[in-house]
Amino acid sequence: MARIFCVANQKGGVGKTTTTVNLAAGLAKVGQRVLMVDLDPQGNATMGSGVDKRQLELSVYDVLLESASVSEARISSEKCGYDVLGANRELAGAEVELVDVERRERRLKQALLAVSDQYDFVLIDCPPSLSMLTLNGLCCAHGVIVPMQCEYFALEGLTDLVNTIKQVHANLNKDLAIIGLLRVMFDPRITLQQQVSDQLKAHFGEKVFNTVIPRNVRLAEAPSYGLPGVVFDPAAKGSQAFIEFAQEMVDRIQKIS
Ligand code: ADP
Ligand code: MG
Repeated sequence: MARIFCVANQKGGVGKTTTTVNLAAGLAKVGQRVLMVDLDPQGNATMGSGVDKRQLELSVYDVLLESASVSEARISSEKCGYDVLGANRELAGAEVELVDVERRERRLKQALLAVSDQYDFVLIDCPPSLSMLTLNGLCCAHGVIVPMQCEYFALEGLTDLVNTIKQVHANLNKDLAIIGLLRVMFDPRITLQQQVSDQLKAHFGEKVFNTVIPRNVRLAEAPSYGLPGVVFDPAAKGSQAFIEFAQEMVDRIQKIS
């Protein structure tokens, strides 16, 4: 059975997509079978995995509307080493189209069941909002990975996210937990970032991943080549950190299961 993780944070531009595609590639590198699900209509995780969102014949949109199965809609990204259930602008319409549907927040969960034994990990890249799309992600996940920048307002935003996750846990998905907070775009030379990082560890203890993802320009360049940094330049500091993070995830899963 695959372990399913959402990469979520209500804020935009905090590194969700970068984390999703690089963790997917990192997990593939350490021998895991991975499906990456793009739940953001921007389709950045799709493009960043070498799949052209404009050419998708079937996407996660069709899966949510039950006009296609995951096996029909997924694409294998050979360069990246994992499968992609892609997204494009069409997905923005799903929200409205699902309004009158029963159990609409469980559509993705239901669909993933059919392929669950084919993967070790399913990673879901969430949009920067608490929409029906994010809810679909949170409903099927065992855990949430929260990427965050160690900035002044980071902790405030976290309170909202933690409350949301508590509500989903109480009402929709008993399995859901924050698996961990991932410090990303980290610059140790900035004193404030060190301070926020220390605060995070004081508040959340074990929930803070040991691995820290540094700010690294190669990670930012990689998407323009349609690749995760881990594939584009495996030797770069940021890529190395994501490979380390993948191993940390594998170790954490073994501990809790
Ligand atoms: P989100 O999905 O949360 O909106 P992204 O992953 O798209 O965030 O990241 C926002 C921007 O920051 C992108 O331009 C991305 O390339 C850049 N970025 C993300 N992580 C890093 C990093 N560790 N070092 C440098 N740039 C990064
Ligand atoms: Mg994104």
